[in-house]
Amino acid sequence: MKAPSILVLGSSNTDMIIQVDRIPRPGETILGGRFLTAAGGKGANQAVAAARCGGAVTFIARVGQDMFGQQAIAGLVAAGIHVEYVLRDKHAPSGVALIFVARDGENSIAVASGANGRLSPRDVAHAAPAFRRAAVLVMQLETPLPTVRAAARLAARHQRRVILNPAPARELPDALLRQVAILTPNETEAHLLTGVRVSDVPSARRAAARLRARGVPAVIITLGPRGAFLAAPEGEALVPGFKVKAVDTTAAGDVFNGALAVALAEGRPLPEAVRFANAAAAISVTRLGAQPSAPTRWEIERLLRAGH
Ligand code: ADP
Repeated sequence: MKAPSILVLGSSNTDMIIQVDRIPRPGETILGGRFLTAAGGKGANQAVAAARCGGAVTFIARVGQDMFGQQAIAGLVAAGIHVEYVLRDKHAPSGVALIFVARDGENSIAVASGANGRLSPRDVAHAAPAFRRAAVLVMQLETPLPTVRAAARLAARHQRRVILNPAPARELPDALLRQVAILTPNETEAHLLTGVRVSDVPSARRAAARLRARGVPAVIITLGPRGAFLAAPEGEALVPGFKVKAVDTTAAGDVFNGALAVALAEGRPLPEAVRFANAAAAISVTRLGAQPSAPTRWEIERLLRAGH
């Protein structure tokens, strides 16, 4: 089977991670942590996740002309990602994220966006040929909203399906939501977008209904270990998660979205695509780091066969 063509637009960061017993409080210093760096950024994470599970991925992004940007591009190339539209900005440094990961898998993150903040609608226009090739466009909100909107418009013109992972949480215009085929908030993002505090299936159902009323046909609210609630024209369902031992949940949502894109581009029905994404994300939480934690296709299929 030919690899499905996935276009990802979004951020690339270098993650600097310290593993600690617990997240330090303001003013507090904790000794005894373990330090590592890893390639990250929601966009790059989703691109790598999609590539690992079998997608032919093109990534649209901006990094700086520093070592971090160079390393980020080298990592993307090593993952088999097409990087012609990963631009090197002359004026801003590459994005950096400082991350604490606690023993229980909880995390706390601060991001300096740098070049990510300069990804522009012109960059989208420059990447127009990639929109013609792609089956699915995947985006998040770590790059400027006008750029996300320009990409959604261009995808609509080519009748390409748009998956928008509305992370980090922010309010969104209805005009953008109408150009999105599938919106994938987590509980926090669904709360911010709808005012509904999402904590279980009934509240997820209410939040999804509000979002669908604003013009998105399908909404998938990810619910951590419980899996994901899917609301689409075909119907609604909780697609249960897989039981694993969580070590680091940093990129669970990113792996979920990358895997979802591949499954949809392969033509799988939504519930099956969500189950595939749940399996990929479950494997990723058992490992440390963002991009290094994304599983291969083989690992995902093994978990799907094993079931819970
Ligand atoms: P985010 O990482 O954006 O906060 P979630 O925490 O909802 O999003 O996680 C996204 C997906 O990752 C979930 O829908 C689920 O499939 C998977 N996942 C997250 N945490 C776990 C866990 N502890 N065990 C198994 N799967 C998990």
